[in-house]
Amino acid sequence: MSTVITHHPDSTTLLSYAAATIAEPLAAVVAAHLSMCPRCRAEVADLELLGAAIMLSAPDCSSGAALKVPARPADVAKLADGRVAHSNDRLPAPISAAYALSLDSIPWKRLGPGVWHHRLALRQEGDGDLRLLRIAPGRKMPDHGHGGAELTLVIEGAYRDVTGQYRRGDIQDVDEGIEHQPIVDTDGECICMIASEQPARFKSLVGRLTQPWTRM
Ligand SMILES: [Zn+2]
Repeated sequence: MSTVITHHPDSTTLLSYAAATIAEPLAAVVAAHLSMCPRCRAEVADLELLGAAIMLSAPDCSSGAALKVPARPADVAKLADGRVAHSNDRLPAPISAAYALSLDSIPWKRLGPGVWHHRLALRQEGDGDLRLLRIAPGRKMPDHGHGGAELTLVIEGAYRDVTGQYRRGDIQDVDEGIEHQPIVDTDGECICMIASEQPARFKSLVGRLTQPWTRM
């Protein structure tokens, strides 16, 4: 069954990924999406070519100065290199390769009724938050706003909020200031991967009570 992807990262997100200026957790989610989405792979390849062309035409290049190519963080490069790798597992190849995980081997920790999570280690603590989330059918997530950019990639199942329905391969690219309350579809649990530049700010009481433990 082929995956039909209807929600993609914003062009500015793909641009910052191509330029290697994106935060590590966000880069991991983009790399996972690229492994599932030929359209965005092509767009990133075009942006990388454009970036190389701009650097080659820069004045200090014509005078023989060395090219200053921005370095990608090592882990992002590793994730990106694996972005078209083939895998039989449902977990996107860049993530299963970088973290030696399969969908069946994730050591879930219970976060609350019908919600489990697994934090994915970052090269640099304080660079944001990256985690896998597993949510029971029909379950609402706590109402929350964001202090920075947040990317959510659906790996299994589906959820919806005011902006539409998100299924396997879809990405929700959320900016600062947006508040949303995703609800998982009733016909199955949802597994997604969430990256944020900063911890989310939960508004509801349950969110506020659990935040010190979950650091979401
Ligand atoms: Zn895409």
